[in-house]
Amino acid sequence: MTQMIPVTERAHNFSAGPAALPAEVLEQARDEMLDYRGTGMSVIEMSHRSDAFIEIAETAEKDLRDLLGVPADYHVLFLQGGATQQFAAIPLNLLGDKNSAAYVNTGVWSTKAIEEAGKYCSVRIAASSESTKFDRIPAYASWQVDAGDAYVHICSNETIGGVQFHDLPAVSVPLVADMSSDILSRPIDVSRYGLIYAGAQKNIGPAGLVLVIVHKDLLGRARKDTPSMLDYKVHSKAGSMSNTPPTYAWYLSGLVFKWLKAQGGLARMAAINRRKAETLYHAIDSSNFYSAPVIRENRSWMNVPFTLADAKLDKDFLKGAEARRMTHLPGHRSVGGMRASIYNAVSQDSVDALVAYMAEFEREHG
Ligand SMILES: *Cc1c(COP(=O)(O)O)cnc(C)c1O
Repeated sequence: MTQMIPVTERAHNFSAGPAALPAEVLEQARDEMLDYRGTGMSVIEMSHRSDAFIEIAETAEKDLRDLLGVPADYHVLFLQGGATQQFAAIPLNLLGDKNSAAYVNTGVWSTKAIEEAGKYCSVRIAASSESTKFDRIPAYASWQVDAGDAYVHICSNETIGGVQFHDLPAVSVPLVADMSSDILSRPIDVSRYGLIYAGAQKNIGPAGLVLVIVHKDLLGRARKDTPSMLDYKVHSKAGSMSNTPPTYAWYLSGLVFKWLKAQGGLARMAAINRRKAETLYHAIDSSNFYSAPVIRENRSWMNVPFTLADAKLDKDFLKGAEARRMTHLPGHRSVGGMRASIYNAVSQDSVDALVAYMAEFEREHG
């Protein structure tokens, strides 16, 4: 038999995604792996039409609705294809008789969404922070959204750049948000959105699952040539079981939803996440050795990019971090520097350990 690794020896995992999950959730999944609650089989091995799985699926949806306060007139879909597939599904489903959509460009993920949407419609850039290297959210007053736009698309948290919306603009067309890296990190008002989508592997569960929360009025207007697998109406009619759904990812996400409820829900997660982020930004701002590229008002609570005074020290910094079991700290290959992703499952203890190491490294090299 393999040796069980005690939870205390788990790494300080700052991965941007696939990312850390709560140890309690993984332990429960382990305990239920070979025999899910007396069924004599793993969740991986059972039909998605079985009573046991239907209950898993329905409970997960109910818990997610409770956590986010999803109103009854929104559909919740558990799909495959990642957030990236939604970059195409959104214009295909939502354009209706319009031929333009507005996109706000705040970084790498917005840019990818824009490029994909451009295959299906005329994309109007409502606002962009590209000229300041995506260090902010463009001021709402400058946004140009037209009544002829089918929707306006934002990325609520730019995972690579570390830019996050901390409030929302009033817009006159449906608001569509890529929440892949900040969903469930704090309460939101779902009724402000036409559609929310999020790949699971950042702040929800395993890769292979993407959540779509969509207002019922936005269904049924998909382009005629929309593949069935991308048609929200097809999926909502079938309860996300139009074909075999990602059953294990759905199950594990359900365990995460239960865990979030046990923590006290999203208001409590917001308090925890805010404190973690403030701890890290304070350490960066109070040193002359580290710096953060994003303006203060738009800094992400989930992904904290930072640089060292001398990039030649990056390698040593990362080596020391690895020796302290702090992993996944290199910034995205497109931007360099460092990035600490501090999702729900990353504890204040891990952030404190990072901050202590940063201070130690600065004393030696600063
Ligand atoms: C990771 C990420 C994506 C891409 O997700 P996939 O599941 O890999 O397609 C899209 N948007 C944001 C904001 C992300 O963080």
